[in-house]
Amino acid sequence: MTKRALITGITGQDGAYLARLLLDEGYEVFGAYRRSASLTTWRLNEIGALDHVKFEPFELAEYNNILRTLTKIEPDEVYNLAAQSFVGVSFEQPLYTSNIDGIGVTRLLEAIRTVNPNMKMYQASTSEMFGKVQAVPQSENTPFYPRSPYGVAKLYAHWMSVNYRESHDMFTVSGILFNHESPLRGLEFVTRKITSTLARISIDGRGELELGNLNAQRDWGFAGDYMRAAFLMMQQEIAQDFVIASGRTHSVRDFVNAAANALDMEIDWSGENENEVGRNKKTGDVVVRVNPKFWRPAEVELLLGDPSKAREILGWQAEVSFEDLVSKMVVADIKNVEEGRLPSRSLE
Ligand code: NDP
Ligand code: GDP
Repeated sequence: MTKRALITGITGQDGAYLARLLLDEGYEVFGAYRRSASLTTWRLNEIGALDHVKFEPFELAEYNNILRTLTKIEPDEVYNLAAQSFVGVSFEQPLYTSNIDGIGVTRLLEAIRTVNPNMKMYQASTSEMFGKVQAVPQSENTPFYPRSPYGVAKLYAHWMSVNYRESHDMFTVSGILFNHESPLRGLEFVTRKITSTLARISIDGRGELELGNLNAQRDWGFAGDYMRAAFLMMQQEIAQDFVIASGRTHSVRDFVNAAANALDMEIDWSGENENEVGRNKKTGDVVVRVNPKFWRPAEVELLLGDPSKAREILGWQAEVSFEDLVSKMVVADIKNVEEGRLPSRSLE
């Protein structure tokens, strides 16, 4: 019989890659979307999944809505990708973030337990739970120390997922995913902000990229690879949690250099802290500037994941390298600028 999957957060980056993968695996895919004045369908369209996903209005703040959705669809697998996913915003909207990213997950777990506890559930946990890291690299055994309302809410949800597995014998798995990016990434995240802005600067010959902490280090991978890991976790006999990471880390400054490289631009860095600037070596123009407004009240300085468990048990490893990821994003953003598909200024 055809398996049914319900993906919450279907309009986001990961929703698109996971929908594509599950459709290719022969699943009937239901996409739970949050109602808004304009539904974000471009990612699903881009990936060729839009016409094949069945849409369901869905809101993680509404217990009864979740309950009715599960009763109606009767999915075999539920992938909970929905969240207020931006760390920066969570400092300004801590209550909303806690409600959706934390309590929202308990609502979903409780609804599954009520409707049919045999439904499997994937929870989108995050490396942000490691925050002020207690060990390098971070594995499934590393103690957590979240540094933002987002990280705290996700950690609560993570333990709830573990607790429902242990208390009610439910198949719940949490993927502790490190940062994963793609041409479908939201424009407010640093990687896409860099590739979209530098692509515009390279075409217009003017403009500046304003960033916060250039020294922060992240273990960046490709979203398509990471959704394959999420799928594999749900196909195991035993429900357990996995770190999903590339095992390499780079600074934000490294990412800028790599993106500039892909655009045939070389950056000359000078100055320190808020006075640091990056100049186009050829023209001498300032292309990167630090703006303290993008500094966070508490920062996660270094993330580096150890994906050994995923390699051993899931047979998973990241296929797309850091360099290929950056170049994929730059190429896509050049096309986006040329075709007028990007906003003319950053909203952040
Ligand atoms: P996105 O921000 O691209 O997508 C988030 C999705 O959640 C959107 O579809 C959004 O809908 C939906 N959503 C937000 N609030 C609600 C709500 N109240 N009810 C229902 N749906 C809601 O995130 P990603 O695709 O990048 O990430 C997917 C998940 O993985 C998230 O939970 C994120 O926190 C987590 N994660 C992501 C990592 C990454 O590097 N990408 C790393 C680790 C974890 P709308 O379109 O209406 O805004
Ligand atoms: P996060 O790891 O989930 O917070 O993903 P982001 O892409 O939002 O941020 C990654 C890192 O880049 C963090 O350490 C940020 O502080 C840093 N960073 C530096 N400048 C910026 C910026 O302008 N925007 C964002 N989003 N992050 C920035």
